[in-house]
Amino acid sequence: SLSDRLTATFKNLRGKGRLTEADIDATVREIRRALLDADVAVPVVRAFTAAVKERALGLEVSQALNPGQQVVKIVNEELVGILGGETRRIRLAKNPPTVIMLAGLQGAGKTTLAGKLSKWLKGQGHSPLLVACDLQRPNAVRQLQVNGERAGVPVYAPHPGVSSEFESATGDPVAVARQGVAEARARLHDVVIVDTAGRLGVDAELMQQAADIRAAISPDEVLFVIDAMIGQDAVNTALAFNEGVDFTGVVLTKLDGDARGGAALSVASVTGKPVMFASTGEGLNDFELFHPDRMASRILDMGDILTLIEQAEQSWDKDEAARMAKKFADQEEFTLEDFLAQMQQIRNMGSMKKMLMMMPGAANMREQLENFDEREIDRVEAIVRSMTPHERLAPKIINGSRRARIARGSGVHVSEVNGLLERFTQAQKMMKKMASGGGIPGMPGMAG
Ligand code: GDP
Ligand code: MG
Repeated sequence: SLSDRLTATFKNLRGKGRLTEADIDATVREIRRALLDADVAVPVVRAFTAAVKERALGLEVSQALNPGQQVVKIVNEELVGILGGETRRIRLAKNPPTVIMLAGLQGAGKTTLAGKLSKWLKGQGHSPLLVACDLQRPNAVRQLQVNGERAGVPVYAPHPGVSSEFESATGDPVAVARQGVAEARARLHDVVIVDTAGRLGVDAELMQQAADIRAAISPDEVLFVIDAMIGQDAVNTALAFNEGVDFTGVVLTKLDGDARGGAALSVASVTGKPVMFASTGEGLNDFELFHPDRMASRILDMGDILTLIEQAEQSWDKDEAARMAKKFADQEEFTLEDFLAQMQQIRNMGSMKKMLMMMPGAANMREQLENFDEREIDRVEAIVRSMTPHERLAPKIINGSRRARIARGSGVHVSEVNGLLERFTQAQKMMKKMASGGGIPGMPGMAG
């Protein structure tokens, strides 16, 4: 998975202070592969990775993150930005009813979505009316009526046998749409959802019909419904509908399947229109607001790596990091006090442990984490506190009798004092190495 590959890439980057072009290329290469795996359209992948690389080259060195993590952070920000940043809500009309038109290829999930959306809006206190304008397929009107019944939402449809002042509309989807909206206004429905016909491919006649419906009812929102499984065809289909009906938002369906959702990025990227909803099953409740951030991690399949990056940034104590950096610059000795301060920094990140363990790519970190125990930090603290100030600054003087005294004072076995001093010596060596290399490690305490 990408997480595994990125973890491997990060490992090589760990401890480096500066991002080189080669570092960036290595990470960007993995990202490119992941995007193609997620079925993001090729030209979109190309433009995207170029933008990421350009941003990464101008990057300032972060103290909380290693270079690979920094690149991933940029990738995520760019992805979320293209996918629409904040989740956009439906724009409600100043003068009701709010008119929502659905458009898209046959089988995309429009009629199913009409039911879901109406139920969801009803749950929010609206009183929607569904309008059946797919007069192309024999069963389409009936299908919408079934969905309406399940959602408890009325359906306006031209069907023989029910007398209506609008009965003349039968057969003409544009007239049905117009009269459906009039019906909603007359019956004080505050939202109208207009279901339309689709074909298997982009089709001039049908696109004209959709454009005519749009012109007739001036919808507040035109939602382009697209199957997440569509893959590389997403770009052409989206461009055709954007040109044909100038949609205002996108709904991605069938996200319950295997699709990684690359279509979302393709469509949003080439049309600039936000994805607003996600459809995740055949049931009426399988429907949610679209979350750009969640979709970004789904597309990249990064497990919780992003959450990890976020938390590493949040829990990193900037003052402490600055103090440590100054120490390196001044070539000061790394003391037991510093060691303790580092452990405490890690404790601040303690809540991450569980999450880190679940990360698909954390295999090589897992062992370290397995051994990491918060009580261990308490013991280290107790041991260090039992030392005299002089011992803390010059641990070399801690001989056998001092070790025994410290162990008694902190309530641990002498072997634990020995273990701590050993680990401290290792960390001290590592810090020296890093100081001479000019770099500051991403997570210093982890490297002990
Ligand atoms: P339309 O031609 O655009 O109106 O598409 P439909 O609403 O008739 O849906 C086509 C098929 O896809 C139906 O069998 C739906 O049950 C199914 N479908 C729609 N949305 C989803 C979804 O989010 N997940 C899954 N698994 N199936 C869906
Ligand atoms: Mg339909």
